[in-house]
Amino acid sequence: MNKAVFLDRDGVINHITKEHDYIKSWGEFRFYKNALAGLRLLARSEFLSVVLTNQRGISRGLMSENDLYNIHENIQKILGNDRIRAFYHCPHGYGDNCDCRKPKPGMFLRAAQDLHIDLTNSFMIDDAQEGIEAGAIAGCRTILVLTGRGKKQVQFVENWIHRPDYILRDLDRAIRFIHSQKTI
Ligand SMILES: [Zn+2]
Repeated sequence: MNKAVFLDRDGVINHITKEHDYIKSWGEFRFYKNALAGLRLLARSEFLSVVLTNQRGISRGLMSENDLYNIHENIQKILGNDRIRAFYHCPHGYGDNCDCRKPKPGMFLRAAQDLHIDLTNSFMIDDAQEGIEAGAIAGCRTILVLTGRGKKQVQFVENWIHRPDYILRDLDRAIRFIHSQKTI
């Protein structure tokens, strides 16, 4: 069985814009400082790197699935040999009642099946409650990062049913922390 580090995208790997907590095109995409270093370290570790991202902009018609694939292809081009193992996205909106939109664990279950991942030996890194909750429900250890929405969200963490196991500054710190754990 494989181990994975699941990653949220917007607010974890890349900046969100002032107006929105998501981006719609490669033109708006900006990596966080040190995010590439973290992703490269992860790609060379024993963990599979798997992005799980809610993209309700697709259901709202703000962007197409092809726009999303274009962003992910460009990320992969920049990462080269250190590419992300897989991307999963939920295109649905709040009212669609799908099984994949975080905090539901559908994307984790799909990835686990496709890539033979042991969820209990895996981590979820997210900047928001829904990702931490989904990760916990899926059986992963969870890390809240303070980029993106994380800085605001961390203030309310005491009220969450599923609190993060760890709170770290950013993606790079989180990946280094996982990397430094000897007995996983
Ligand atoms: Zn969905």
